Formats: sequence, structure tokens, C-alpha cells
Amino acid sequence: MSLQYYTHGRRDQMKVALTFDDGPNPPRTDQVIEILNRRGARGTFFVLGKWAERFPQAFQRIVESGHCVGNHSHLHEAHLGDFDRAEAAIGNLLGRPTRFLRAHYFNFFTCLYSPVAMSRDMKIVDADVNPADYAKSDPQAIIDATLQAPALAGGSIIDLHDGREMDDDARRLASPLPMIEALPAIVEGLQARGFQLVGLDEMELVDPIEWRHDGRGTFATPEAREAIEGLGGNPS
Ligand SMILES: [Zn+2]
Repeated sequence: MSLQYYTHGRRDQMKVALTFDDGPNPPRTDQVIEILNRRGARGTFFVLGKWAERFPQAFQRIVESGHCVGNHSHLHEAHLGDFDRAEAAIGNLLGRPTRFLRAHYFNFFTCLYSPVAMSRDMKIVDADVNPADYAKSDPQAIIDATLQAPALAGGSIIDLHDGREMDDDARRLASPLPMIEALPAIVEGLQARGFQLVGLDEMELVDPIEWRHDGRGTFATPEAREAIEGLGGNPS
């Protein structure tokens, strides 16, 4: 079993895609939207189904502001590829299916048993610039990790976080604050270099990477592996 995923778009165009994972997370998501909108930038929000269900109005504000949305699972639990459940929640609010999907923890194994993830119409999107903003409390460190990333170029996809999967409201609301403080400088720094900040729906994704399930290290337990592999014959 194999799948293809993308880490960037065309390198010969001065387009960069800012992506925000794990929301919607009001009012943090709204703060991100305001920063983007004021600077003529579009973003892509990889939302969780459970948060779209809990915060449908925040989800609609993303869409109404003209930004792109993608599927980032329902519960964001390791080893659980609940993209179909997420798509039911997200697609119902959106009025159409999403076209982009990001595997939580970039664990592509979880995609293999999801018809939504494996659909021809769905593009699985990684990133080539990963500032690990969720692990940084200093906004300047997030700015530096983004603008000085060696991979940053035309076609880059940058992975940031406007939310978190955790149910603790205080922690989830506090987590994106350093990124939000950093975001104006990130947007302006990218624009100063001549990059246009676009949604993934405006970027031609190229050079897909073939990911092949080798049966090692991706299952929660050996018993889970045996049970899952027994469902549909031997993955190859
Ligand atoms: Zn995530």
C-alpha cells in the first residue's frame, strides 16, 4: 500500500502557502485571520472535525474571509485515521468536500484505511518549512525559524498552529499566542522578499513523494498490526 503526499508547490513561482493546524480555536483563529486580511494574505486552515463541530461559527468565519480549509482528522489522536468522520463534520459546514488533508503527526499510516484520505480528489499535504511554533514561547524564535529556514523558497508550504488538539481551554487558548505575536513579522518578511501568500488552492503542488507502508513502526501494537492487516489481505 502506498500514497503520495506533497511538501511544496512550483519552485518557479513566487508563491508561499501559510498553513495553520489544529483549529478552529476562537478567538485565536480570528486573530490570525485579521492579521492575514490586513496584509492581503490568504492562508489554509487544517481544522479538526471536533473543533469545527464545537465552533461552527469560527469555522464559517475562516471560509467567509476567503481562506482555504483542509481536513486534519477529527480527534487528532495518534494511530487513529478518523478523516472520514472529520470530513462529515467539515464538509457539512463547508457545503462541499475539502480537497486538502494533512495527517496529524504526519503519520501517513493513518491515511491508508480512510477512503476520504485515499480519494483521488484529495491531496495529502505536508510542509517544507516547519518552525515548530507550538514548542516555542519566544515569538522572535518563531520568526527566525520561519524566515531563515533553509528550505524557504517559492512554492514553500509553512506549517504553523492556530489551535491545539487538547480539550483544556486555557492551554489551547494560550498555546498559539507566541505564533500570533510573530505572525505580522512573518507575513511582512515574506512579502518583503516578494512572495505572494496564497491558499493551497492557488498553488500548483508538484514533486509528490511516494510513501510506502513497510509494516514497521506505524502500528500502536503488534496485535493491532496483525488485526488491521488481516482486514484486507497483505499490504504490499
Ligand atoms: Zn496537528
